[in-house]
Amino acid sequence: MADTQNTTNADPTAAAPASTAPRLDVLLLGAPGSGKGTLAALLVKELGIPHVATGDLFRENLKANTELGRLAKSYMDQGQLVPDDVTARMVADRMSRSDVARGFILDGFPRTLPQASALGDILAGLGRRVLAVFHMRISDEVIIARLGARLICRQCQTPYNLVTMRPRKEGICDKCGGELYQRDDDKPETVGARLKVYHTQTAPLIEHYTRAGLVHEVAADGPLDAMVRQVLDTLRSLPR
Ligand code: AMP
Repeated sequence: MADTQNTTNADPTAAAPASTAPRLDVLLLGAPGSGKGTLAALLVKELGIPHVATGDLFRENLKANTELGRLAKSYMDQGQLVPDDVTARMVADRMSRSDVARGFILDGFPRTLPQASALGDILAGLGRRVLAVFHMRISDEVIIARLGARLICRQCQTPYNLVTMRPRKEGICDKCGGELYQRDDDKPETVGARLKVYHTQTAPLIEHYTRAGLVHEVAADGPLDAMVRQVLDTLRSLPR
């Protein structure tokens, strides 16, 4: 199991070396369509740290037709998870970039217990640890309705919703002018498989991180601004 509470200072009065000072290393945990990406985009603006979404990283690889992208596609098309070792390597690589120095909002990783363990190892190797996990609580019924109406930008991956968050111009991204499309895996035939994977493989992480004292519940079917406020207030209240 991941040692997410990696404490290194026996003497609480001693100043922590810079490398062990916890950053804003934040996880968003929730089913597909729970609004992780939408919430993350707003948090990025408030906190000035990057949004790291493994689904986006796979889709970027797919678009660039890399070997990783081609491998990931075979799993993504089925609504299944890309193997843990492949995914963890991609995350370790992303964590080595300088833009995460002050923290990150990790969305879509970890999705399995071995991935949680891998993340603990990756962060420990960098003298870091998970600061907080926000669990986006929402029913499957709301998710199925949401995903059926979701479009994303082919270029910058910004999500839209034809019912609740329409783009200003039909089919065009407000932010970058890119083309909006429905992800293949948001089609009803794949959504069921993704939800099943979530409940069997990812939901156990809620208990895993609850045991580590890191989980904060977020009502993901509520207003977005309330969610942002809750996350920011929580982060402000945490000892760092
Ligand atoms: P998402 O955009 O987060 O819904 O991810 C889309 C798809 O990418 C998933 O259904 C998986 O096939 C793959 N994927 C994303 N993140 C992971 C992960 N942490 N582990 C394995 N597969 C992943």
